[in-house]
Amino acid sequence: MKQLDYIIVGSGIAGIAFCENLEANSRHYVVFDSGEQTATGVAGGVVNPMVLKRLNPIWKASQFINKAKPFFEGLQNKLNTQIVKDQLLLRIFATAEQQNDWVVASDSPAMEQFLQPEIIHNTNTNINAPLGYGAVRNTFRIDTPLLLQAYRKYLYNSGKLISEEFNHNELKETNDGFVYRDLNTRHVIFAEGSLVLKNPWFTLDCIIPKKGEYLLVRSTELKCEATLKGPYFMIPTEDDLYMVGATFAHGDFSYDKTVKGRQTLEKAIQKMVKCPYEIVDQICGMRPTVKDRRPLLGSLNTNGIYFLNGLGTRGLLMAPLLSQWLFQLIENNTPLPPEVDIRRFDD
Ligand SMILES: Cc1cc2nc3c(=O)[nH]c(=O)nc-3n(C[C@H](O)[C@H](O)[C@H](O)COP(=O)(O)OP(=O)(O)OC[C@H]3O[C@@H](n4cnc5c(N)ncnc54)[C@H](O)[C@@H]3O)c2cc1C
Repeated sequence: MKQLDYIIVGSGIAGIAFCENLEANSRHYVVFDSGEQTATGVAGGVVNPMVLKRLNPIWKASQFINKAKPFFEGLQNKLNTQIVKDQLLLRIFATAEQQNDWVVASDSPAMEQFLQPEIIHNTNTNINAPLGYGAVRNTFRIDTPLLLQAYRKYLYNSGKLISEEFNHNELKETNDGFVYRDLNTRHVIFAEGSLVLKNPWFTLDCIIPKKGEYLLVRSTELKCEATLKGPYFMIPTEDDLYMVGATFAHGDFSYDKTVKGRQTLEKAIQKMVKCPYEIVDQICGMRPTVKDRRPLLGSLNTNGIYFLNGLGTRGLLMAPLLSQWLFQLIENNTPLPPEVDIRRFDD
């Protein structure tokens, strides 16, 4: 029997961020990942603490962003892979009212950290933004396919990655932990994203997967280096390629590409872009969202079994701090903020 401190199920951003806590504290662990569906792999990668529609920072925005930036920079150094892109995030003003709201909001001291007050004029004739842009401060982008590839290689090389599906029915509770095949562990962390719904240890009904679709578009003329937020995000990735999206499809739990998604996003591109482009792909994924739109951390009825889930639309921003909160709960008994504690749904 191999003796471990932790088994992690899932190596999306939740699993990766938790592993980094284990590494920093020299814990023994392995990670299971079936490489099946991952929200992290299809995410636009925008790390953004603002709700741009309402010009509000998200809950605990400063704490999340102040943890996320050094976390990803540290990971970039450790993996020796360029995963952090310092890309401007510009909101296109569709109306004079939106422009005015931006100026008013950015005047408040609480917003200084997030909104640049000056209106930026558009100089790119291929982009439709006659009223200019507002720039969001403290944002950046993560190349998520590259992050997953590099991190899984790192885990594999250190003998910690088990590239197969974790079969929940084979996990048995013992007097001092759990046994899974030839592994003995004190703790199990389920970081399974939307697939947690297949997990028999997860007994709640508060996770609602939210499908999102992107179009991948090529345009040699567009020459835009910033991420633009118009009706949807338009995110430059590499070599004249842009991700446009992502949609929010309520009640569609399939991974099928939809005509509706494509049409909605094509309309958005036509609003934002004035030069020729070609659609090269359509991508979709499931955001693990929670009924009350807060993450889901901690333990239900079985000591030693923990969930790190509900990262919703901002997993990249939130995972570094959430994983630290969960680690501190397990190892030091530090209480979680009640807003994210999974027990809020367990009555
Ligand atoms: C279209 C789209 C765009 C998005 N854009 C952004 C964005 O720009 N910025 C942002 O911050 N967030 C974005 N998000 C949200 C973000 O992707 C998620 O919040 C985050 O990736 C969730 O990470 P996770 O680790 O919880 O889940 P996942 O990334 O889904 O990882 C779960 C992993 O667990 C594995 N797994 C599950 N069950 C098992 C099992 N039994 N055995 C083995 N392996 C298992 C899966 O294969 C998967 O690899 C987007 C999401 C979508 C869908």
